Amino acid sequence: MNVLLMGLPGAGKGTQAERIAQKYEIPHISTGDMFRAAIKEGTPLGKKAKEYMGSGHLVPDEVTIGIVRERLSKDDCEKGFLLDGFPRTVAQADVLEQMLAEMGRTINYVLNIDVAREELMARLTGRRLCRNCGATYHVIFNPTHVEGMCDKCGGELYQRDDDNEKTVGTRLEVNISQQQPLLDFYQEKGYLCNIDGSQPIDMVFKCIDDIVCNRSNSATTVITNGLKGVTA
Ligand SMILES: [Zn+2]
Repeated sequence: MNVLLMGLPGAGKGTQAERIAQKYEIPHISTGDMFRAAIKEGTPLGKKAKEYMGSGHLVPDEVTIGIVRERLSKDDCEKGFLLDGFPRTVAQADVLEQMLAEMGRTINYVLNIDVAREELMARLTGRRLCRNCGATYHVIFNPTHVEGMCDKCGGELYQRDDDNEKTVGTRLEVNISQQQPLLDFYQEKGYLCNIDGSQPIDMVFKCIDDIVCNRSNSATTVITNGLKGVTA
């Protein structure tokens, strides 16, 4: 089962990625981890990526795509994979499709964890830290007993600059404008599944699980048609 996971910051992608990887026994491949591994292993592409990153430049698509190809060719991807953070552009999505076709594979699901902007703002601006002991809280997910006061030491809570509305708002806008063309691309291809990410974590996972299980028959059909690497 080959899955792409999409979602804006704060949508809960990391949590769902862990669950999907565990339940379907496929590796969770995030772009960051993939780069770190390639650099650590010192592969030729890893070395190239390191050069670009070291000089503060964006890693060009050809290098990124080469690293993705290397990663997807590893043994642990035989049953499938969960890609997270790649592709980031329609150009990359196009190349990914070609690459998978060459490998005799295809994308089975593009899962988009969809959460309204206002809800994301609330989630992303809700973090609070204790000035005294550094304990972390969240006004929605992990509130203190007394508002503004640390449960552990009674210290004063504050909001980091990174978490303020302006910074978070800008970050969301950038991500929304980056993600939308990709969602349109996969919608047209018929791969896109939108999941209501405003629900509790367990419910979000159940929705994902339902989608994947209900459609596993069609994935099996693909195997009988002679394509490798598509397991239900
Ligand atoms: Zn404290």
